[in-house]
Amino acid sequence: MREALIILGVIAVLFALSAFRYRKQLRAAYGVWKAVKEIRAGRFPDQPLGKVEEQAGGKLARCMTCGNWQPESKMRKVGNGPMFCSAACFEQAAKRPA
Ligand SMILES: [Zn+2]
Repeated sequence: MREALIILGVIAVLFALSAFRYRKQLRAAYGVWKAVKEIRAGRFPDQPLGKVEEQAGGKLARCMTCGNWQPESKMRKVGNGPMFCSAACFEQAAKRPA
């Protein structure tokens, strides 16, 4: 009986060591398993909804001169006011009599 306990102990130690060795893979596998479980439950894995918008460059804004819609991050902004899609549009707006 004692030998069996020793063998079980050795197996437990080996299992713990390999779990430690492959912890990254185990975590990835756990992530996949969790995602599969959530999809089966009718939910999509919790991804922040704002992510897609961020990847696309943020909120859209309209150019004051040509009316083109562009991601706000790509726009030239004058303070908190008008936004322009390009330097040309900005210059045009500056030249135009108010
Ligand atoms: Zn423009």
